[in-house]
Amino acid sequence: MSTNKSEKLPEFKFSLNNQKARVLKDGWAKEATVKDFPVSKNIAGVLMALDSGGLRELHWHANAAEWGFVISGNVRTTIIDPEGRYEYNDFKAGDVWYFPRGHGHSIQGLGPEGTTFMLVFDNGAFSEFATFSVTDWLAHTPREIVSKNLNVDEGELSGLPDKEAYIVHSSEKSDLKISDAPPLTHKYELLSQKPFHEHQGGKLWLVSSNEFPISATMTGAILHLNPGALRELHWHPKADEWLYVISGKIRMTEFASSGLSSVSELCENDIGYSPMGYGHSIENIGDDECKLLIVFNSGVYEEISLSAWLSSNPEELVSANLNLPLETVRKFHRRESFIISENKK
Ligand code: MN
Ligand code: MN
Repeated sequence: MSTNKSEKLPEFKFSLNNQKARVLKDGWAKEATVKDFPVSKNIAGVLMALDSGGLRELHWHANAAEWGFVISGNVRTTIIDPEGRYEYNDFKAGDVWYFPRGHGHSIQGLGPEGTTFMLVFDNGAFSEFATFSVTDWLAHTPREIVSKNLNVDEGELSGLPDKEAYIVHSSEKSDLKISDAPPLTHKYELLSQKPFHEHQGGKLWLVSSNEFPISATMTGAILHLNPGALRELHWHPKADEWLYVISGKIRMTEFASSGLSSVSELCENDIGYSPMGYGHSIENIGDDECKLLIVFNSGVYEEISLSAWLSSNPEELVSANLNLPLETVRKFHRRESFIISENKK
């Protein structure tokens, strides 16, 4: 369900369940880009699954950095930077990676059961024009140049795919020695850390460039809300917010100024979007704990919450502004609440 008070507002919700998957033998991918979800101009997402040995082939993204969160299973990545330094990493559920824009990388599902992960890009249009895969490149380069470049005879290249392979199968055996490691790691074990916020109503784990310096353009979070809990009304001064419902059911409000607002209900596999500066809130309206993946297109995390704002002002000012008696204003939360649990103390 989604209700917009005005036709002037876009949809702030998109269901990945309605999106057709790109299915290959060893994995699949489903994407949400600005093409299908117009409000998401600055952030796009791809949900991907790889079987054990399934390899998302060597590629780079010309117009976006990639932020990954492992939902289940085990994954191995390889990445090179422009100085020729490289890193291999193994990830488990709850871990995060960050690949700077343009850096060449690969992603492989590991045993026993492969993996499912969410990729988030800091450009809503990342997909259509700008993923560069190694097989696509070599297939569309004159064979004599490929042969010269790789130092082999053209006859030895008959196995090269004639178009983008996208996902292939590879053994898990890798020669994991690193001769020239980059100064900043691409891996962060998000859910192994202490939560950034812990309240009666839920928990938030957060990873910005403070905790994970290579993640210069993106911040990620996992939010767990108990039934009835409210992530209070707030806004982000310098970032758009993209969220994915891993499990549960939420109600999301958006305020776009000038009397324009919207309320949407999201469930598992739905994506929500809050443009920079829009006032918003998230409430768990299901019977179970809900789990959300949230990503911002800034390496610096900033927010202002309604309760922090109101409580930072004189009571008389708030009373006059809201046309409410002083004794009512005095019952308001005295500082930022962040997550408000269902039961009033
Ligand atoms: Mn990628
Ligand atoms: Mn927010």
